[in-house]
Amino acid sequence: MKGLSHLLLCVRSSTCARVASNLSQFEKVALGSVSAATSFQTRKMSSQKFQVTKRLQGTEKNVWVDISKMAVENKALNLGQGFPDFMAPADIVNCLKEVVSSSDLMTHQYARSFGLPRLVNALAKIYEPHLGRPVDPMTEVLVTVGAYGSLYCVIQGLVNPGDEVIIIEPFFDCYKPMVTGAGGVPVFVPLRPSKEGTVTSSGDWKLDPEELASKFNEKTKLIIVNTPNNPLGKVFTRDELTMIADLCKKHDVACVADEVYEWMLYDGNKHIKMASLPDMWERTVTIGSAGKTFSVTGWKTGWCVGPKHLVHCAMVVHQNCTYNCPTPIQEAVARGLELEMSRVGSPDSYLTSLSEELRPKRDFLAGQLEAAGMRPVVPEGGYFMLADYSNIKTDVPDGEEAKDFRFVKWLTVNKKLTVIPPSAFYCDEHRHMVENYIRFCFIKEDSTLEKASKILQGFKG
Ligand code: PMP
Ligand code: GLN
Repeated sequence: MKGLSHLLLCVRSSTCARVASNLSQFEKVALGSVSAATSFQTRKMSSQKFQVTKRLQGTEKNVWVDISKMAVENKALNLGQGFPDFMAPADIVNCLKEVVSSSDLMTHQYARSFGLPRLVNALAKIYEPHLGRPVDPMTEVLVTVGAYGSLYCVIQGLVNPGDEVIIIEPFFDCYKPMVTGAGGVPVFVPLRPSKEGTVTSSGDWKLDPEELASKFNEKTKLIIVNTPNNPLGKVFTRDELTMIADLCKKHDVACVADEVYEWMLYDGNKHIKMASLPDMWERTVTIGSAGKTFSVTGWKTGWCVGPKHLVHCAMVVHQNCTYNCPTPIQEAVARGLELEMSRVGSPDSYLTSLSEELRPKRDFLAGQLEAAGMRPVVPEGGYFMLADYSNIKTDVPDGEEAKDFRFVKWLTVNKKLTVIPPSAFYCDEHRHMVENYIRFCFIKEDSTLEKASKILQGFKG
């Protein structure tokens, strides 16, 4: 056949035309099919055939894509997507500057697939005291493209078609498409405001223990717990985490603990790692983010930490997906974490000082929202705040879309202020629970928050 394919190529050129007259019957037949193939009719690409795959259908809409685009188009003040609008900390930026100007050739070449050794070592060291156990940097840590990458690898690596995954509402929106994309079945359970009408703190939102227990069954593979929570800012207490952990142990379920806001805590609230609870290490994968930890969301570097048998499943996805992450960023994050470890307990520690920097911003925004007639749900952690806007008089048009989406779009177009509609963090059935709320991001310059305040005060008139 090798000879024939050579011949077929040859016959296409006129210089080889003479060869064709001496062909065997078999070769002529073969050539006949070639000439038929070269005179084919070009078919139009079928719009039926080339749609997004069935497993991704229903996930086309994305709140970040839509709302961020609107903010830009309307030149609105952006308190929507969660990123700081001020310069990243000088120390961490300097780490990257030093790294890129280093003469080490390997700085600019591929890193180890599962994470640069210096970074996985630093991560293991920084987490060990919080987990109360040793962490093997080579088998129990995986570095990914953002915490998104870790969530994707863990979910793809562990969820089989038909497996159920319990998701606590409100949830970071990508959990749902990641679960359905893996063929899994999301099972939603909402945090419910415990003091209807007078909710003032994210701590007032609680799980109903019976409702939660009723979601566990033989098909349950995972539960995703996000503490501090986005968008609510709830910091789960030890009792709440223990209740979830007990259900995991009773039903042999693993926990994905999304803890990207682990360092942002207010009013003495403590972040408790799910993986540090008794017998939970072996069934928990903890997810973190350099973007959140060091206020460098554009560095898009995250990680997961957990027992080898679970992290291995995520590694299998990662090695065939992105394979590795950018070397200079990993090196800089490693140096930043090392610096942090040398500063534990000192006022220079960025991880401690960040919360101190954020708390007055949170309090200012909460005060301004109240003055404008909204009812803020003051967060215990993270850098988002929900506010009930139902007392505000507006001329938001009616429509099919959820009320909070319509309000946010109206606010962006008419008042030039962009926030996030929190029903994006709920399943369709439960969206109505937050249609009277909007989410503000407060990791912003004071001047930005003041501008937002002016817009908000305009509602009073
Ligand atoms: N989890 C939560 C709860 C988040 O809010 C975010 C957004 N930062 C992520 C994961 C993704 O983080 P990253 O930007 O590191 O991908
Ligand atoms: N986690 C951030 C937020 O909730 C960013 C989301 C994103 O970039 N998709 O705003």
